[in-house]
Amino acid sequence: MFCRVKVLPKDGVAAPEGVEELLWDFLYALARNGQICRNFTLVREDNYCAYVTLPKEDSLAAAHDGVYVKQRRAEVEKYFDLSAHISGANAESQPYCTCASHTALEMQTFSFDCDSVFTCMDCGRPVAMYELPPIEGEGDFCNIENWQENYSAMDKLWLNCLCDRYTGRQLTDPQSALNKQGRQLAAQMAQALGCKVYYNMFDDLGYYTKKPKWANEGGKMLRICPSCGKLMRHYAADNYEVELCDDCNLSSDPYEKQE
Ligand SMILES: [Zn+2]
Ligand SMILES: [Zn+2]
Repeated sequence: MFCRVKVLPKDGVAAPEGVEELLWDFLYALARNGQICRNFTLVREDNYCAYVTLPKEDSLAAAHDGVYVKQRRAEVEKYFDLSAHISGANAESQPYCTCASHTALEMQTFSFDCDSVFTCMDCGRPVAMYELPPIEGEGDFCNIENWQENYSAMDKLWLNCLCDRYTGRQLTDPQSALNKQGRQLAAQMAQALGCKVYYNMFDDLGYYTKKPKWANEGGKMLRICPSCGKLMRHYAADNYEVELCDDCNLSSDPYEKQE
């Protein structure tokens, strides 16, 4: 949902010093809690106006505020009234999961992804982060956001044809610093949520990684886990298919073997 949030000065209340910093801090707190997607901006019009993408229509409701959003919102509302108008669905963002609970989640992102890194494996849609428990005693999801930024940056370097040993290894090696950071966060989310969280391993289809990726089992080509080398199992739900290793909690996109 693409949304315009008007920031209207309260009658008789003067704008504070550093008004833009105050508004940016509020927006970053919302983003780190998953209440707005990654791409947002603040525009100086007659008054200020924020342009944001919401995971769901009601994502800005105070009921979803995390501890830092609560603090920032209280500061902003001393001076301003906020009025939000949804202008339509942002085509960059996917419709979000509305399942009451999740059997398992998959964690993944890519260079231009603006949505939550967690996908519900029952419906195949992204899960609004503020609906998930924060991990490791954090008040928001800044550690997940940091990983998403790191992964996107690496993926962008790869896609822009740097394609060097460093970016290739960071993306395809289950033990790279980038993947270790992501896998640790996935494991922490699994623990907080009490269900499996699979970490998606990027597959360059042999461009960089030369390891075998398939095994012939009775005439059927099955994927091999990039970490432990065991066969992966195929999982399919509505509009959603993935290969899984339950020992390593890794997932992989279900490519057909190309001869
Ligand atoms: Zn779902
Ligand atoms: Zn494995």
